[in-house]
Amino acid sequence: MIIAVDGPAASGKGTIAKALARHYNLPHLDTGLLYRAVAATVVRLELDPAKEADAVAACDFDELTLADPVLRDDEIGQVASVVSAHPLVRAALLQRQKRFAHQDGGAVLDGRDIGTVIAPDATAKLFVRATPAIRARRRHAELQGRGDTTSYDKVLADIRARDQRDSSRSAAPLVPATDAALLDTSFLSIEASVEKAITIVEERRSRL
Ligand code: C5P
Repeated sequence: MIIAVDGPAASGKGTIAKALARHYNLPHLDTGLLYRAVAATVVRLELDPAKEADAVAACDFDELTLADPVLRDDEIGQVASVVSAHPLVRAALLQRQKRFAHQDGGAVLDGRDIGTVIAPDATAKLFVRATPAIRARRRHAELQGRGDTTSYDKVLADIRARDQRDSSRSAAPLVPATDAALLDTSFLSIEASVEKAITIVEERRSRL
């Protein structure tokens, strides 16, 4: 069974994907980490994220980068949304994600284009969303917990900028697959969101 979980930054998709992976005992891939690793490599090598050739050169990143806590920084998220708009960057990361999705036994992947590009054949597709203000509040609290003093207003502005870039790019823009179930987590606790997600997956599974 392949479960595709897409949605914008801080919508809750990562938490939901991890919980689904635990519930169904499936391997999980946070595909945002791949784009973040490209971004961190671009920054480290002082390349230009807006230049496609520079970003492509960083796709061959060291696997250890995937475990670097710097990937969680907001600046890296912003650079990730710049490098991820280049079609050749998406192409360079495509097979790795497709292979993960289609491994024996199935998998859970979260990202922006799992249901549309990586696994259009997924058993269940969820598109997780929440209002920008609520997502900014969550991200702000998370950053504060890590000792980061970025203001709420800056976090909200960054979320809006990233939404805009991710939704307006021509290569695999952030849009729900036509057959995705929408899950709005704005006014749901983590537990309630996960419960709804499981209900959606069960419903999709029963249609097979
Ligand atoms: O999900 P996360 O916030 O870690 O993703 C960072 C950035 O990577 C996103 O803003 C988006 O531009 C890009 N991304 C993508 N496709 C994916 C996952 C992430 O374009 N499947």
